[in-house]
Amino acid sequence: MKMCIACGMPMTSIGDYPLHDMSKNYCKHCAHKDGTMKSFDEKWHELTLHYANHHNVDYAIAKQNAYTILKKLPAWKRKW
Ligand SMILES: [Zn+2]
Repeated sequence: MKMCIACGMPMTSIGDYPLHDMSKNYCKHCAHKDGTMKSFDEKWHELTLHYANHHNVDYAIAKQNAYTILKKLPAWKRKW
């Protein structure tokens, strides 16, 4: 089973892949409508909002936590 390199989500069915393309290493949540992968900044922003909503923490803290989470994923490890 593959894991999304950009968010860590397990990709268990073809529906999890962008445009149902199983050769991709990232999931549909990490892809634009045309199937290309989102940037670090886009994912960072998304995850920050998600984190702030679900964990009820300050935006600044959510942003820091989101950064820590993303940095552990293969897609972003070597970039920063
Ligand atoms: Zn993903």
